[in-house]
Amino acid sequence: MTYATVREAIAEAARAANRLPADVDLTAVSKQQPWDRVARVLAAGHRRFGENRVEEAARRWSEHRPIVELRLIGRLQSNKVAAAVALFDVIETVDRPRLVEVLAREMDRQGRMVRLYIQINTGEEPQKGGVPPKEADAFIANCRRRQALAIEGLMCLPPAHEPPAAHFALLAKIAARNGLERLSMGMSGDFRTAIRFGATSVRIGAALFGERPDPELAGAPVIRP
Ligand SMILES: *Cc1c(COP(=O)(O)O)cnc(C)c1O
Repeated sequence: MTYATVREAIAEAARAANRLPADVDLTAVSKQQPWDRVARVLAAGHRRFGENRVEEAARRWSEHRPIVELRLIGRLQSNKVAAAVALFDVIETVDRPRLVEVLAREMDRQGRMVRLYIQINTGEEPQKGGVPPKEADAFIANCRRRQALAIEGLMCLPPAHEPPAAHFALLAKIAARNGLERLSMGMSGDFRTAIRFGATSVRIGAALFGERPDPELAGAPVIRP
């Protein structure tokens, strides 16, 4: 889809859910995308981008840094926190006490406030990051009380092979009972459903830029019969 088509699809989904189109932000997920595709969306005036790796994001965005809002949507290792705090405006994948501690200390040290989302592992998948739903309330309270961090919202990434609606509903419920108003949920395949369940930002990559080139194949020799 073109940038305009994606914006229109988001607006339409918002209206269908009796919500205002302006209440749903688009995070353009530029990770691993060839730069010419990203440049097109930048040229169309879009300014909010999502990346999943700290080094890759730093390399790609240093030149454009002043004009964009960068959001980290991939897992953050403790040893990359300093670089992440320096680079990103928003970190959406806060998910363990140790990370919260290191983030609090690093923001203090750099004198920089990064907006934070807590990732909830709504499907309780062992290979995935995120706080288990049962621990969410205590985790959020700890972020606020002990580390005095401003938590902006919650984020989730539903299991790939399940209908996402129940996961979006669960995230919305956890947010509501903790007084959080921002929900980062919904990707290329399910953003309309996410908007119906209250998403305030949707993270769209492939539908906007095209499929990401397979990193295993990029640069590999082309084998012909
Ligand atoms: C890659 C990614 C997306 C975008 O997925 P698409 O299917 O390309 O829209 C969204 N959120 C997270 C956390 C991702 O890693």
